[in-house]
Amino acid sequence: MKILIANIGSTSFKYRLFDMTTEAQLAKGGYERVTDYGDAIDKSLAEMKASGALPRLEDLTAVGFKTVLAKGIYGCAELTEDVLRAMEQMNDVAPSHNPPYIAGIRKFREKLPRTPLVGLFETAWWMNAPEAAMRYAVPEQWAEWGVRRYGFHGASHRYIAERVHQLLGGTDLKIISCYLGGSNSVGATHGTRGVGNSLGMSPQSGLPHNNRVGDLDSFAIPFLMKQHGLTLDQIVRAMNKEGGMLGLSGVSNDMRDIQEAAAKGNARAQLALEVFVHSIRHWIGAYLFQLNGADAIVFTAGIGENQKEIREMVCAGLDWFGIRLDPQKNNAYQRGQEAVISTTDSRVKIMVVPTNEEIVVAREVKKLLESKP
Ligand code: ADP
Repeated sequence: MKILIANIGSTSFKYRLFDMTTEAQLAKGGYERVTDYGDAIDKSLAEMKASGALPRLEDLTAVGFKTVLAKGIYGCAELTEDVLRAMEQMNDVAPSHNPPYIAGIRKFREKLPRTPLVGLFETAWWMNAPEAAMRYAVPEQWAEWGVRRYGFHGASHRYIAERVHQLLGGTDLKIISCYLGGSNSVGATHGTRGVGNSLGMSPQSGLPHNNRVGDLDSFAIPFLMKQHGLTLDQIVRAMNKEGGMLGLSGVSNDMRDIQEAAAKGNARAQLALEVFVHSIRHWIGAYLFQLNGADAIVFTAGIGENQKEIREMVCAGLDWFGIRLDPQKNNAYQRGQEAVISTTDSRVKIMVVPTNEEIVVAREVKKLLESKP
C-alpha cells in the first residue's frame, strides 16, 4: 500500500512516499518558489518513477494532505468537492493555508482522477479537548457560525505525544509539546487525548509566528481603522505578512537572523526574542496547571530542534516546578536525535524529538481507506 503525502505551502510543494505495509519511507522531495502546482506534481511523480519508488501511477493507493481547516469537518476525510467547498468557507480564517491547499488538491484531482485524495485536518487532534478550553465568550450566534478555538498543528503534536509514550514508556503521560518553526504552537496532551493548543480559531493566533501576528486583542482592529484610517484589507495583510517575529524585530522573519542581530546589540531583535520566549512560557505555564503537572516538555521543528539558546531561555529558572535543563546535554544535542536534555533529578523530562507529521497523516489515510466497505 503506497501512500503519497503532499505538503503544500503558498510557494512550496514537498512530498513523501510511504509503503504503509511497513511504514518505510520510499521517497522524499520537493520544490521551493513554486508558481504552478501542476508542474511541481508532474515533476515529483516523474522523480518517483525514475527512482523506482513508484514505477506505475496505478500503484498509488491514495494521496494524503495535512489540510488545515474546513467548516464543520475536523477529522480525516476524503476530499470531495463538498469538503473543498467547506475549506473555501474558511479561507478568510486561514488565508495563507487554505487557498494553496485547495488549488493543489484540485490539480491532483485533474492528474489522478481515480486515486482517493484524503485530508487529515490539523484541527483533528483537538476535537476532544474540553469545551471550556475551546469556547470564546462571544454571542451564541457567533459560536454557531464557528467562532471558537479549533487548535492546529494537530498531526505534529499527536506524533510527539505518541512517540514520547514509546520513548518513556506508559499510556497516560502528560505531555507539553512546543512546535517552534515558521508557525509556532504549544500543545497539551494527556494519554491519547489532545487537551489544549495555543492556536485558536485561526493559524494566526497564539504565539508570535515568523510573520503572522499571534494573539492580539480584537479591539486593536477598530482602533486602527477608526483612529489611523487603515482598511480591513491592510490590517489583515499586516497581521499575516508584516507581524510576528518580523514585525517585532524589524530584522527578519528567520530566527537565525534575529539571534545574530540580538547578539550584535540590536535592541528590537533582543526584545523579539524575549517576547517569543515569554509567550512560550505563558502557554507552558497554562498547561502545567490544566494537566496538574507534566511528565515531559518537548521541543520540535526548525527552532525547537536547532536553537539551544531558545530552549535554554524557555527552561530557565523553573526549579520550583522541578524543571531542570542540563546545559551540557542541551549544548550537545544534534538535530535528528531523540534526546532527553534535562538533569537526572529533574521531575519533568525535557526532550527534543524531531517531528514526523507525514507519517501521522499516512496512518490516518490508511485507517480511513481500510474502514470503507
Ligand atoms: P516550518 O514551520 O515552516 O516548517 P521550520 O520548521 O523549517 O518551519 O522552521 C523555520 C525556523 O527554524 C526559522 O526561524 C529558522 O531560523 C529555524 N531554523 C531552521 N534550521 C535552522 C538551523 N540549522 N539552525 C538554526 N535555526 C534553524
